[in-house]
Amino acid sequence: MRAWNRPFPPFRVIGNIYYVGSNAIAQYLITTPQGHILLDSGFEASVPRLADNVRALGFRVEDVKLLLASHAHIDHVQGHAAAHRLTGAQVIVSAPDAPVIASGGKGEPVYDGVYAWAPCPVDRVVADGESVTLGGTTMVAHLTPGHTRGATTWTMEVDDGGRKLAVVFFPSANVNPGVRLVDNPKYPEIATDFQRSFALWKSLPCDVLLGAHGSFYDMDAKHDRLTKGATANPFIDPQGYRRLIAEAEKRFQDQLASERR
Ligand SMILES: [Zn+2]
Repeated sequence: MRAWNRPFPPFRVIGNIYYVGSNAIAQYLITTPQGHILLDSGFEASVPRLADNVRALGFRVEDVKLLLASHAHIDHVQGHAAAHRLTGAQVIVSAPDAPVIASGGKGEPVYDGVYAWAPCPVDRVVADGESVTLGGTTMVAHLTPGHTRGATTWTMEVDDGGRKLAVVFFPSANVNPGVRLVDNPKYPEIATDFQRSFALWKSLPCDVLLGAHGSFYDMDAKHDRLTKGATANPFIDPQGYRRLIAEAEKRFQDQLASERR
């Protein structure tokens, strides 16, 4: 996973949303006049770099008030305990992923016994449709299980020069290597969870596509276009969102069909 964790220059994506992650693992800083929201912490070892990225953008790490999660896998939440200590932020995660984050990886159907990390206290759990508000920014948690039991699609509205745009932070719809969709004793309801999540994703409005990995939305290429002065913000990509969901659903359906054969 080292190849996913190279430094990347932090940048403003759109409105009050900033990218503060690595070359491949995304972390987002959402700034408000009453403090900031951090979505995902990444690997523990790169939390100091994450903090440097926040400072390089001109913000104070101590002003991060809320720490959220896309899903309870090591590359997104291993740094939660360290980021929590550093910021004092309230940790808010989905109910199904909370015990995994609070125990440092226990009970996760794919990686329990493979990866463990520093447990991070959870201050508040959110259910499907619940929202979190800070300084005029509201983020809504949509539970989209499958990749993990508590994988969360966070959405918000961003102001782009007076225009209100719908933002989707996509957690992942990947079926990890070796994971079975049929007769999976560790996660028997995985296939129906994915099916419900795909239905939700297809119903969500999306103007600005972001996600837990840059590869989900061509972060590199879009960042390139942004820094070269693209007139329209490249991260506004409703077609890219529909394509991402359609491709992920096709991979899921293909695997499901081949397991049932
Ligand atoms: Zn994952």
